[in-house]
Amino acid sequence: MVPILSGSSAPRRRGLKPAHQSFLIWHVLVVSYFLFNSFTKGDQTDLNIVDLSHVFDNTTIYWVTEPTLKLNVTYNGTSPDKNYWYQKEEISAATHGGTHLDAPCHFAKGRWCVSDIPLTHLVVPAVVVDISSEVNGNPDVHLSSNHLIEWEKIHGHIPDRSLLLIYTGWSRFWPDLLNYTGTEERDKSQLKFPSIQPEAASWLVANRKIVGIGLDTMSVDIPNSTFPGTHVTLMEKNIYALENVNNLQLMPPTGATVFVMPMNLKGASGAPCRIFAQLPGGMASGGAGYVTFGSSLALILAVAVGLLTLTRT
Ligand SMILES: [Zn+2]
Repeated sequence: MVPILSGSSAPRRRGLKPAHQSFLIWHVLVVSYFLFNSFTKGDQTDLNIVDLSHVFDNTTIYWVTEPTLKLNVTYNGTSPDKNYWYQKEEISAATHGGTHLDAPCHFAKGRWCVSDIPLTHLVVPAVVVDISSEVNGNPDVHLSSNHLIEWEKIHGHIPDRSLLLIYTGWSRFWPDLLNYTGTEERDKSQLKFPSIQPEAASWLVANRKIVGIGLDTMSVDIPNSTFPGTHVTLMEKNIYALENVNNLQLMPPTGATVFVMPMNLKGASGAPCRIFAQLPGGMASGGAGYVTFGSSLALILAVAVGLLTLTRT
């Protein structure tokens, strides 16, 4: 297309002056840098992920009758002949300690053990019932069906195929044995912490269809119960439990997706577990998905416009 010029003798402009070209190139580079920066930050921080696990180390609390974690570094150092760093370890521990999963076969014969639980039950929507203000440091407050009924009046029915998490506020005591378990002696008869009443478990299996339950104390059953009714009632229905969960204060009542990632032990009734949650809004309000797409598109457009400007003007 021939440009309309003010006079037939005016020369056609074939490009920008060197100073303008240089400015434009720098402009494109600077814009690209900031867009790329937002792209990489989006991947790392805008996913809205919350870690619901405690770290495993030599302070990790295990069930009082069980051996605790032993992590033995069997080698670390620079190989004298090969000149590179090398480290390795051995670990041993009970399966029921730290942030962990109780598989249904823990208290129900013939039900799922850890590796039998389908992934569709481990990546699930979560609902969080917060009883921390009522607990307020009192180890004798335990979740009841009334708590669930009251919660549903505000937030609606606990959805089918969801994970029910109970926030008691107890994780703030971790890993202090006395405050977290009620005893420094690892004495079963002295255990004290908030938990879940068996009648709440009965109400859940009769009225709702959850796949799992979890809380921020060391057992879903009331300490020193004569019968572990909460475990048994839930696990007969193939519902798993998560114990010693962390950071539930960061969770919304509904809308988060939780990823439950136990070590995939075949035939085991429990396993150490990494649990994390993706909070709602991570994708919809400038989260990684949209940042990635938006940044990529903007980057391509910026480069294209820059190149077109340089070649066509
Ligand atoms: Zn357990």
